[in-house]
Amino acid sequence: MFDAGIVGGGGIVGCAIARELAGHGLSVAAIEKHPTACQETSALNSRVIHSGFHEIPGTLKAELAREGSRLIIRYAEERGVKLLRTGMLIAVPHGSIRAGLWREAGALWKMWAQGRQQKIPFRVVLTAGGVQRIAPIQAMSGIFIPSVCVIDLETLMQLLLNDAKTAGAQFFFGSEVIGIDVQASHHVIHTIRGAIEARTLINSAGLAAKEISQMAGGPKYDIEFVRGDYYEMKGGIERWGIRTLVYPAMPPRSRSKGIHFGPRTDGRLYIGPSATPLSEPAPKPVFLEAARRFLPQISDDDLEWSYAGVRSTRVAENGKSDFTIRLERQTPPFINLIGIDSPGLSASMGIARYVAEMILRRSVPPMAQ
Ligand SMILES: Cc1cc2nc3c(=O)[nH]c(=O)nc-3n(C[C@H](O)[C@H](O)[C@H](O)COP(=O)(O)OP(=O)(O)OC[C@H]3O[C@@H](n4cnc5c(N)ncnc54)[C@H](O)[C@@H]3O)c2cc1C
Repeated sequence: MFDAGIVGGGGIVGCAIARELAGHGLSVAAIEKHPTACQETSALNSRVIHSGFHEIPGTLKAELAREGSRLIIRYAEERGVKLLRTGMLIAVPHGSIRAGLWREAGALWKMWAQGRQQKIPFRVVLTAGGVQRIAPIQAMSGIFIPSVCVIDLETLMQLLLNDAKTAGAQFFFGSEVIGIDVQASHHVIHTIRGAIEARTLINSAGLAAKEISQMAGGPKYDIEFVRGDYYEMKGGIERWGIRTLVYPAMPPRSRSKGIHFGPRTDGRLYIGPSATPLSEPAPKPVFLEAARRFLPQISDDDLEWSYAGVRSTRVAENGKSDFTIRLERQTPPFINLIGIDSPGLSASMGIARYVAEMILRRSVPPMAQ
């Protein structure tokens, strides 16, 4: 009998929760359907450690990205995980006068106001020359957020996993969860390899979280799946000289942060992600167009398709998209994590603390011995 059973222990969020709970002395079963960690959304993202600047103040996304990014950056520094101190430039491209400057400038202005509310340090860049001093791109103005960085995801994941194991968490890889029985005081989690018993059930199953919630007798959540493709910019940082993340200015309540480009820790440059329905990858011209707004010299040959990831987003009736992290049942305790889309990587260590807090101090009664 484990104190906690985590479905989705191979994702960055499930793994961070396993580490946090095991660190508090709880016995933890981290259950993962793939044979190794980081095989789904956690590997197929932009690897950006967001400060929460894009998020609506007061949401869980804003709060946990701010807290989580602080924790990840400190962890990376202490443990030697490679971090690129890129900063993030949210820019208004040249040519916007014809193509709706006021919409873009208005979006930038709203982000400025939102950023001030969030108390995240940033500076406004008012001229094309100022932009050029940050990145060799064509843009009229922008906002620069120095705290944003890009992380070596594989090393981060490996270290979190090692920490969790060292603290006593047991990982059950290759163990797809196929059913969950709810008993009076605990859960019986049926996997293709056998049953695991746990008092608290934590559903951190990413794209399958909706199904796991229903398996455990929880609500049927409405989830949208959004596909995001990436193209590599051939020649990488060395050729293009771009060492910062370049994002378009999007209206604050838009569902995505827009197609951006920026460096990775291995020296490559990527542009993406698009935001389309699952079965409809965005065509290459969409990426070319997004890049040309800032880099007019780029051509079709410079971009090569690389990979795609899928976001599972929960949009509330008021149109806001936020993480849902909820204690669905007190006895036996059941916690759902639904719609952990961007910035879930940045927030992962903050989410882990939040879940541990729910279990250890607030919502969940002490574990029966
Ligand atoms: C295109 C894109 C770009 C993004 N960019 C960023 C970014 O730059 N910065 C950022 O902070 N965030 C970003 N995100 C969001 C971030 O990637 C996610 O929030 C994060 O990876 C979610 O982690 P997770 O552990 O919840 O999900 P996952 O990585 O999906 O992990 C869930 C795990 O559950 C397992 N599982 C599912 N069903 C079962 C089952 N039945 N039995 C056992 N195991 C099961 C899966 O195999 C998987 O390993 C991006 C996302 C996308 C799609």
